[in-house]
Amino acid sequence: MTVQPRQGDPITVDVALAGRAYDIVIGRDVLAGLGARVAALRPGTRVAIVTDDVVAERHLAQAEASLATAGITTSRIVVAAGEASKSYPVFERVCEEVIAARIERGDLIVALGGGVVGDLAGFVASVVRRGIDFVQVPTTLLAQVDSSVGGKTGINSRHGKNLVGAFHQPILVLADTALLDTLPPRIMRAGYAEVAKYGLIGDADFFAWLEANWREVFAGTAAREHAIAVSCRMKAQIVARDERETGDRALLNLGHTFGHALEAAAGFSDRLYHGEAIAIGMVLAFAFSARRGLCSQQDADRVVRHLAAVGLPTRISDIPGERPDADRLIELIGQDKKVRRGRLTFILAHGIGRSFIAPDIEVGDVREFLNDQLR
Ligand code: NAD
Repeated sequence: MTVQPRQGDPITVDVALAGRAYDIVIGRDVLAGLGARVAALRPGTRVAIVTDDVVAERHLAQAEASLATAGITTSRIVVAAGEASKSYPVFERVCEEVIAARIERGDLIVALGGGVVGDLAGFVASVVRRGIDFVQVPTTLLAQVDSSVGGKTGINSRHGKNLVGAFHQPILVLADTALLDTLPPRIMRAGYAEVAKYGLIGDADFFAWLEANWREVFAGTAAREHAIAVSCRMKAQIVARDERETGDRALLNLGHTFGHALEAAAGFSDRLYHGEAIAIGMVLAFAFSARRGLCSQQDADRVVRHLAAVGLPTRISDIPGERPDADRLIELIGQDKKVRRGRLTFILAHGIGRSFIAPDIEVGDVREFLNDQLR
């Protein structure tokens, strides 16, 4: 982990799922090789590229050119950028367009975009013609380290986020780190929260490396590939152990119980991006752990210091607009997570890199903690 990375060949991370193993290929300009890799995996395939209008303008031509060079026929399906595209009407439209493009069982969908496009296109792939294969080409940092890996796909219901979906693993993830050069800085920072999350979950050395090298990750040197590869390796290992989240995979939800409640309180709007909510959520998870004597205050302080240095929000009061009270947040946590006999499961920490699943947390303790945080 402390080895200084060098820019060079792409890094390949294997997701070792029996019968459905696939590679995550990480590197600058790997998008140019999309066509050759797809042709090698599925000779003779046709491809429907699903993307959003913002990504289409910047990167679709390169993806299409690479596929064309490999002799692959493509069609394009462009949705509006933003979370609103993870909806029933857009899902229906994309399914119909995939069928109209005569994409058959043996053909492929390529999801070119952030987590929204990946979740939507992956879900379409899971159901059209009872399931066709798909390739993830993630174009945000969040998608490269998190949403494109692990096979969770889906859309939102009026009752909440990601409530309609399927587990459907891609056959390849191609993470071109150069595509992140066009990301607005705030979206890049939000994705970085998920990178830091991996250090906080299970790799203290990686967290220390990030504290020293985060500027390089943003600058786009070889440090970026390294950080993405370490993140993907950890996610791949956890997913290979627990694909359906019956155990360990829940660790990936560090910061998400508080984070989801904050996102909901902010109306899932531009006031607070998902990664920003996770940053505040991870700070709260460590503060709550320190308060219960589970981890040191120094470790909790380190989490705040690092995320703040990067420019991420770390306090509930950093969210612009009206501030939710503790009761409202508890209500939102209850809508998101099962409360059993007044108790909740949280991801807490014994220290940096030592997160664990705490299944028996009293809702009353959480309310008291949030009241103190909001005071
Ligand atoms: P996003 O897909 O909405 O992308 C954010 C914005 O960046 C969009 O406007 C998009 O058009 C733009 N964009 C994307 N790539 C760009 C590029 N290279 N240059 C310039 N602009 C670019 O958001 P996101 O943060 O990538 O993903 C969030 C979604 O991911 C949420 O719906 C969340 O539920 C989902 N998610 C899924 C999983 C999973 O395991 N499936 C995990 C975490 C998050």
